[in-house]
Amino acid sequence: MADTQHATPLIVLIEDEPQIRRFVRAALEAEQYAVAEAETGTQGLMDVGTRRPDLLIVDLGLPDMDGIDVIQDIRSWSNLPILILSARTSEAHKVKALDVGADDYLTKPFGIPELLARVRALLRRSARAHTDDLPVVRFGEVEVNPLQRTVTRNGEAVHLTAIEYRLLMQLITNAERVMTHSTLIREVWGPHHADKIHYLRVYMSNLRHKLEADPNAPRYILTASGVGYRLVLA
Ligand code: CA
Repeated sequence: MADTQHATPLIVLIEDEPQIRRFVRAALEAEQYAVAEAETGTQGLMDVGTRRPDLLIVDLGLPDMDGIDVIQDIRSWSNLPILILSARTSEAHKVKALDVGADDYLTKPFGIPELLARVRALLRRSARAHTDDLPVVRFGEVEVNPLQRTVTRNGEAVHLTAIEYRLLMQLITNAERVMTHSTLIREVWGPHHADKIHYLRVYMSNLRHKLEADPNAPRYILTASGVGYRLVLA
């Protein structure tokens, strides 16, 4: 966890390609974030340890170590939000990185608006994680009260099955993060159902029908294609 929220959010960027470092740094600094750059995993780990940034952006293909090992190392002592950069060809690598604790990803090449949207969402999520004990959560016309275990849409009670509710709570407690298929299945159905992706699809579709204005064009319960799902609150 970022122990202190810096007045100007500090972002550590671990990326070995100089053009991408320049591009990302310029975009972030234009939005008043402070950026510390590292070219290698080793340097990046040191920077995260000493500077305690608010967010880490890490490329998965680094010259001295695998980005996945960087994430695993950091996750052993910190909940800092982690955004990964991955090449389009390394889908499995990206899913693995999310499974070991990365929060979100960008596939190269990516645009500045997408980068900034992801950064804002992750910083929002971590600011909330500091303060919340699961208060009432709202998205669109939906209101979820975890204490009372009630869900309403446009003020009308929505009935969710136990599994649907568990799934929704997984998305809510991890809002703004990409949750991989395997993580969601493990958390909702337990460790012995890794092959149940089709269950997940069915229950996600049910949730969308109950909670989204247009279940075929969801605005909140989003698909991360080939990877998993993400709940967006704002
Ligand atoms: Ca690289």
